[in-house]
Amino acid sequence: MEAQKAGKGQKWIYLDNAATTAVKPEVLEAMKPYFCENYGNPNSVYTFAQVSKRAVEEAREAIAGLIGAKANEIYFTAGGSESDNWAIKECAQALASKGRHMITTKIEHHAVLHTFEYLEKHGYEVTYLDVDGDGLISLEQLEQAIRPDTILISIMFANNEIGTVEPVQEIGRIAKKHGVLFHTDAVQAFGHMPVQVDEMNIDMLSASAHKFHGPKGVGFLYMRNGIKLGPLIHGGAQERARRAGTSNVPGIVGMGKAAQLAAEGMEARNQKMAAVRDHLMKRVLEEIPYSRLNGHRIQRLANNANFCFRFIEGESLLIMLDQKGICASSGSACTSGSLDPSHVLLAIGLPHEVAHGSLRLTLSEETSVEDVDYVVDCLKGIVERLRSMSPLYEDFVKKQPGHEKG
Ligand SMILES: *Cc1c(COP(=O)(O)O)cnc(C)c1O
Repeated sequence: MEAQKAGKGQKWIYLDNAATTAVKPEVLEAMKPYFCENYGNPNSVYTFAQVSKRAVEEAREAIAGLIGAKANEIYFTAGGSESDNWAIKECAQALASKGRHMITTKIEHHAVLHTFEYLEKHGYEVTYLDVDGDGLISLEQLEQAIRPDTILISIMFANNEIGTVEPVQEIGRIAKKHGVLFHTDAVQAFGHMPVQVDEMNIDMLSASAHKFHGPKGVGFLYMRNGIKLGPLIHGGAQERARRAGTSNVPGIVGMGKAAQLAAEGMEARNQKMAAVRDHLMKRVLEEIPYSRLNGHRIQRLANNANFCFRFIEGESLLIMLDQKGICASSGSACTSGSLDPSHVLLAIGLPHEVAHGSLRLTLSEETSVEDVDYVVDCLKGIVERLRSMSPLYEDFVKKQPGHEKG
């Protein structure tokens, strides 16, 4: 059972693994010695601190090995948002003399989108590529968008809302052909699917530990050797003088352990999750009228399901699911709480009123068929109840031939 004990012993069904994941017990165990025992600053010279230094370097080597990189191409950061900011802002800064044009997509995470919006205010020009109804970019449009002054292509590996996986390898090939740097926000992909920086021609890659059962507040940026970006965080000479600040030793150790665990048995785990997820999708689409699946049916993350239910407000849905002990999301964690529909759902062409009724359910390997069955059973009742209160739905049903009620 994915159900987890909260403070008062309440059981939860946690289906928001795209927002964050539980730290694995083995990860916590690996971290523990680096709080009270081996607490030395890895940059200190005495032997005691070398234990910390060695642990950090082992994590760096492990992570580098998993993506086919060299250890000195991995820079530890405080998470996905920092890695994205660093890659994009410092690339803009470093290559400004070559050009001030950058390419991204309309469906990026806000850590990328808002960084580009910031750069637009500072004299850079950004092309936001459209996506099709499944959330995929067009490789032709990408190639057409490249200009002599284009300095960066930043396209996410896998979308955090609808789960669509972009054709990263082809994007990398196009970037390389035109001599443009390619950064990918792989926060939803690393630890969830195979990522190889050379094969995929990736120059820079962002990842975050808490999305693959590691601790929060730690991540990394892969930066290919030869790329000379300045630091985003100025200060001491940590991370080869590219990222200042005393290393988060327990966090880095935890991320290294989580990355190794994620790589072990990845394929079998994904197959298992996809089977449970497909069962969820099938039941929802067959048993709940006027529901649709968002994102690519095949080319998607194994643990992601995203639906729209017409005549429903996603926020009301979340509150009622919460009352049943179900943790879900209506879009990205950042958009929930605001009344704007998700920019991703608008980008795949959904009208505002449909995009408002969205629900994202993201599984972990612990999620069982019984968990999912409970969720669908609850969801059916909740959707029916919310629709019964909707005048729009009433009008709609009256106009249907046969007046059949959902
Ligand atoms: C979660 C997420 C981020 C932000 O990562 P943090 O470590 O929480 O800063 C960036 N991009 C994507 C695609 C994400 O899912």
